[in-house]
Amino acid sequence: MKYVPLLLLLVLPTPTHASEMFISPGEKTRIEEMVDKIIEINTNTSSTSTNNNEAKLDEITGLKIFEEIETSTTTLTIQAPMIKLWQASGGIRSTLKTGMKSNEVVILQGLLSAYIPDFRNTFVSGYFGAKTRDAVKKFQKMYSLPETGTVGAKTREVMNSKYLMDLCPFKNTTPKFFENLDRKTAVAIDYVPGELMVLPKNIRTAGIVCLSKEPADHLSEMVKAAKKAGHELIILSGYRRYEVQKLLKEWGVKNNIEVEEHEAIGLAEAGHSEHQLGSTVDISGKSLSYIGPSTAFGKTPEGIWLQQNSYKYGFIMSYPKGKENITGYIYEPWHFRYIGKDSAEKIFTENMTIQEYLNMTKKTTVQNES
Ligand SMILES: [Zn+2]
Repeated sequence: MKYVPLLLLLVLPTPTHASEMFISPGEKTRIEEMVDKIIEINTNTSSTSTNNNEAKLDEITGLKIFEEIETSTTTLTIQAPMIKLWQASGGIRSTLKTGMKSNEVVILQGLLSAYIPDFRNTFVSGYFGAKTRDAVKKFQKMYSLPETGTVGAKTREVMNSKYLMDLCPFKNTTPKFFENLDRKTAVAIDYVPGELMVLPKNIRTAGIVCLSKEPADHLSEMVKAAKKAGHELIILSGYRRYEVQKLLKEWGVKNNIEVEEHEAIGLAEAGHSEHQLGSTVDISGKSLSYIGPSTAFGKTPEGIWLQQNSYKYGFIMSYPKGKENITGYIYEPWHFRYIGKDSAEKIFTENMTIQEYLNMTKKTTVQNES
């Protein structure tokens, strides 16, 4: 697999920014439960029966977590739960070495199991032992790094860029800002929007969040304007590639997560999510201690400000209250999609939903053409 070197230019948030990261309690629990299950099975089972372990994991978690979705140009190198854990943790940020035990070691081992042939899935234990050290050395050799067996700054940078390539692949496509997605209409599995980037440091995020450049720039403006009006926002979620959305949906269904947690009735099937367009964000604010997504956000000063002002920056709440029958989704006051300033203004002033607007413009186009 070849990636464009440009990707390496994407800079991860600095540690100072990382300390401001927030993970919603529901999200944290879900990820930690998954990691615990992986570790539990791996430590209790003989390492020779890899296939059995995988089947067992699938059975226990109810997810085909080792399933690889091959697509035309973007293949998931690292397993989706590991990518989710990496994203929520804000990347590998500490120096990792022999004797340590942490979730960051899990993330490291998840990467090693993808890149180092003899480092098996079953070695993912959260404990940095001799096998992990040897695999780190092999990884370092592979990327011409000093073979120390310790994950220092340089090794960390390469490892984080590997995760980033999986989370936000580089693809030279035109963003589909006007794609009319709903419960029935999906986008292609391998659709990856163009110009994906990590949100800049001036935007508070929960973990690492990517968006296409145009929505990211307008989001930056919106966050700044909100701040000026006295509102502190946090971006909980942005671009989600198909595999990550699939994982979240299965998790949501399996654990029957509360509506408040966004991922139950609200969460779109993979391929149907506006998050796959690279133009959609989930937002919370200081009033909710930066956690969410939550329906309570609609009644906070930040949520109300967004309802009245987001269109000025090209963003629209996709699933408003009272329009559930049209959108097919529950009220999601945290979910905003970028659709461009002109379209957003029309949608806002005419009190439409994005779907209604896109259906209307489609009709107009057809009539004009005929
Ligand atoms: Zn959302």
